[in-house]
Amino acid sequence: MKKKVLFLRPYYGFNIHSDAHGELGMLQVSYDVYPDLTFLTAASVFSESGEYQVRVIDAAVENRMLPDELLKQLENDIYNLVILKTTGQTIHSDLKLLEAVRGLMPEADIKICGLAAKILKKWLTGNAPYISEVIEEPVDEYALRYVKNIKNGFVHLPAPDYTLVNYKGYKDMAKGLRLTLAASRGCPMSCLYCPYKLYYEGYRTKSVEAAAGSMEKLLELEPDEIQFRDQYFSADKNITKALLKRIIDRGIRTRIVCETRIEGLDEEILQLMKDAGTGMICFGVESADAGVLRNYNSIKGDIRRVKELTDHAHLLGIETMAFYIVGFPEETWEMAGRTYELAEYLDTTYVHFNEYEHCRFGINDAEYTPDLFLPFGNVTALDYPSVLNMDEREYLAYIFELRYTMRNSVQDSYRYRYKLYNDYKKAVEKLRPLATDLNRLSECVREMWDNGRNDPDHNCCRPVSAV
Ligand code: SF4
Repeated sequence: MKKKVLFLRPYYGFNIHSDAHGELGMLQVSYDVYPDLTFLTAASVFSESGEYQVRVIDAAVENRMLPDELLKQLENDIYNLVILKTTGQTIHSDLKLLEAVRGLMPEADIKICGLAAKILKKWLTGNAPYISEVIEEPVDEYALRYVKNIKNGFVHLPAPDYTLVNYKGYKDMAKGLRLTLAASRGCPMSCLYCPYKLYYEGYRTKSVEAAAGSMEKLLELEPDEIQFRDQYFSADKNITKALLKRIIDRGIRTRIVCETRIEGLDEEILQLMKDAGTGMICFGVESADAGVLRNYNSIKGDIRRVKELTDHAHLLGIETMAFYIVGFPEETWEMAGRTYELAEYLDTTYVHFNEYEHCRFGINDAEYTPDLFLPFGNVTALDYPSVLNMDEREYLAYIFELRYTMRNSVQDSYRYRYKLYNDYKKAVEKLRPLATDLNRLSECVREMWDNGRNDPDHNCCRPVSAV
């Protein structure tokens, strides 16, 4: 008889982009529902082998299944192996959930994965007896090792099989179907604020054939957009050019979004990107302060060249999104102000300001407990010396981000930043104290949905499928 395997990505009322931020996760203050690429690819590895009976519960796209309902469903559905993907935002709730799953399945092998689990491995090993193993590597690579005994096998990973889940729920803000894949993993750079460096080892890239083949497989599902989740899409220019040419030659047509270092591009690659269907390029600028960048080993190109390439992308009809960080420990109001001026100067289509996240975690540090993470918050509770306090940093990210997704519309700006953000804050206030009381949390989320039933904007904790 085939072994039964359950892949679990729970849902607690918020949309979490769980393979973002080095797989520490990022709570979305938006209607975006992102797939988790490593999680889905891991399930695909088990499923493709033919030796396992695989079920994937990605609760956000299973009609927003809350934890009480999920546990009820599992009452009569016993598995040999359960793998849960956790995040910094949800680890408190995830642990409670796994404890309950252990009660239902005393014999099961219960594993937890994600960067938050890796950081807390020591604590989890000593304090969470209901967990059989903490998976430290990206779960898709773990799956390949488990099923086929291939180590460090990113390049051998198959395309994610989106049909294992209700993939039509993976909607972006505009309600388009967005699927993701990766042609490479890791990054040759070494920025000290980068959480990906804590999770992905080295830099590895798939063959052009494999990456183009994966794209074609995804296209069978007719997505409106394919987003490459590579950390540095064009790190190897030759491979990128070859991949873009292959996409053009095969006549693959879809909107592509990728993340890269814009200073590593040139006019020729931009033209190839355009011809291959690239609709948006995202890149990190981070700070206007050369000293800050130096402190974090962040090597950026000449800003006039960045401006030239940004303008050239716009000329070709490619949108741009620049990422900035505010609230570096040494940052003053004046330094943050200059970063804002730089964002104005570069004039990308969108800007995204993140609060500085202290990524210098000691992996497996005995000091860390789950309280390192704030339930449903995007920054850790880590205390470190900083010129600006926590409220000031949050305020900076909030005011600077007003241009995100609503460049030409005050109305959208109001709707997105003011209403959504404030609804989100209220939801966090209510749900954070209930993070480990899964029944009350589930009831409270339902109550909030009921209260907002007549208000289409009152959806801060709903995925887009409900809007
Ligand atoms: S370039 Fe980007 S992905 Fe690479 S280390 Fe720096 S922040 Fe991380």
